[in-house]
Amino acid sequence: MNFIEEIVEKDLQEKKNDGRIQTRFPPEPNGYLHIGHVKAICMDFGIAERYGGVCNLRFDDTNPVKEDTEYVDSIKHDIAWLGFHWGQIYYASDYFQQLYDLAIQFIKAGKAYVDEQSAEEIAAQKGTPTEPGQNSPYRDRPIEENLRLFEAMQAGEIPDGKMVLRAKIDMANPNMHFRDPIMYRIITTHPHHRTGRQWNVYPMYDFAHGQSDYFEGVTHSICTLEFVVHRPLYDWFIDQFVDNKPCLSPWGNNYRPRQFEFNRLNITYTVMSKRKMLQLVKEGLVAGWDDPRMPTVCGLRRRGYTAEAIRTFIDKIGYTKVEGTIDLGLLEHTVRECLKEKAPRVSAIFDPVRLVITNYPADSKEVITAENIDGIPELGTRNVPFARELWIEREDFREDADKNFYRLSAAPDGREVRLKNAYIIKATGCKKDAEGNVTTIYATYDPESKSGTEGGNRKTKATINWVECDSALDAEVRLYDRLFAVENPSADERDFRELLNPDSLRITNAKVEQALASAQPQDHFQFLKQGYFVVDDDSTPEHLVFNRTASLKDNWQKK
Ligand code: ATP
Ligand code: MG
Repeated sequence: MNFIEEIVEKDLQEKKNDGRIQTRFPPEPNGYLHIGHVKAICMDFGIAERYGGVCNLRFDDTNPVKEDTEYVDSIKHDIAWLGFHWGQIYYASDYFQQLYDLAIQFIKAGKAYVDEQSAEEIAAQKGTPTEPGQNSPYRDRPIEENLRLFEAMQAGEIPDGKMVLRAKIDMANPNMHFRDPIMYRIITTHPHHRTGRQWNVYPMYDFAHGQSDYFEGVTHSICTLEFVVHRPLYDWFIDQFVDNKPCLSPWGNNYRPRQFEFNRLNITYTVMSKRKMLQLVKEGLVAGWDDPRMPTVCGLRRRGYTAEAIRTFIDKIGYTKVEGTIDLGLLEHTVRECLKEKAPRVSAIFDPVRLVITNYPADSKEVITAENIDGIPELGTRNVPFARELWIEREDFREDADKNFYRLSAAPDGREVRLKNAYIIKATGCKKDAEGNVTTIYATYDPESKSGTEGGNRKTKATINWVECDSALDAEVRLYDRLFAVENPSADERDFRELLNPDSLRITNAKVEQALASAQPQDHFQFLKQGYFVVDDDSTPEHLVFNRTASLKDNWQKK
């Protein structure tokens, strides 16, 4: 049980909020969800599911400059893909009128004023955590003037940046967030994706978030640790109108939302900020939000991560009150563990060279039965064509091998090697081109050694993969690796764009077995000895494309 669950259980025992549990997940629709958001999603939706409550989706759409319906749609899609169900869908913009009315109420009560200073002037007066700030020269203007100016701001009569509405609290408060925080700013440059040109003033986070929670009846407003310092202000704003009559919440005057915070997710070798991700996308440094190297939900999905793997990872890291950074290796380890039991094994030859079995009849073909996953017979079998000419990996053959090389070699003694699921062969020689590259390998096979027959029990020191030449399909294989070359790009002095891993994508062509002809986007496979792969969304039967989800080697477990 995590510490938030403990709080919730205690609240339930004490019958707080009449035993009601309501959470929300509040993304700003200004980018795609990343795996950091998934940590919040698993918490918000998880609490509601576990304790018979409801989790609503609330789009925190208070900044039209950066927001778009494209993001709204992707966020809904990703949450559903992760397997979570929201109750209602709300938008902060649904409350623009209510919030505006509240702001007017604040002004009338002498608790808010219109400041005409620039952002720089306001910042210069903020003071420091140890020194008090200075009052704005506009702080004590008459209520009537404040009302008139705020209405002029909303009417579109004041240019952007010329005025803001500030709460009149305390410029000497040790908590800097209380030093007359900005409640409203003017934005006329961009229409809002839902309200169009209706509004020229937009509420700031601190004035919108807690109020939205209150209007909806959120009981546990869970967010990340950077909001700890905002919590007193969250409570202060609600204090100002909690006794309003009629009550602004459907849940009566005894109800209050409360904020709780946990540590945000950071992962090595990546960035976890929508702003930086947007830069990568806009500058073409990745192929899009769903580039398989991106830590976005859609990127991870395209990379071959399953919802189960992502959720298992979030379970493993847990929730605390201390910031830290998680090793990317743990995420990779988790996806391997999840795919190990599920992904059918198939043969894909990345650097193919032709092997000719000289004593196998030229006009003959047979079908080999291969288990989809060794040792899990329930997962079925597939038929693999076998004939005289096969593709094998170039590195599985050496013309002159020393005694430590157990795979194919013609010299010194032509050792025996098993073709996976098929026969034992022995290399007899090879043909090379003018540059000395091997173009064909010759071998003989033992007809009595077929796997699954009595002779199939004969052991060899090595087993190699193969794909029958005639039936083999060509496939584009995208070998993805970590996006950044440094462990912590966000802590580096250099611009994060200079820290990208130049080898994060290598594209190669492979010969793959016929069974993959019918593979559909999002099908998962283990390419024997290579790693886990997924069929890319762009893949077609005419042009197969596979993305590497993870290599087979598990570096993390070794550590
Ligand atoms: P970013 O910093 O990437 O722009 P954000 O905090 O601005 O993210 P929001 O859309 O406001 O993004 O986030 C929605 C919710 O997801 C918030 O409750 C926020 O606390 C949570 N969240 C965002 N990033 C993380 C993270 N790395 N780990 C855990 N929760 C996160
Ligand atoms: Mg945010």
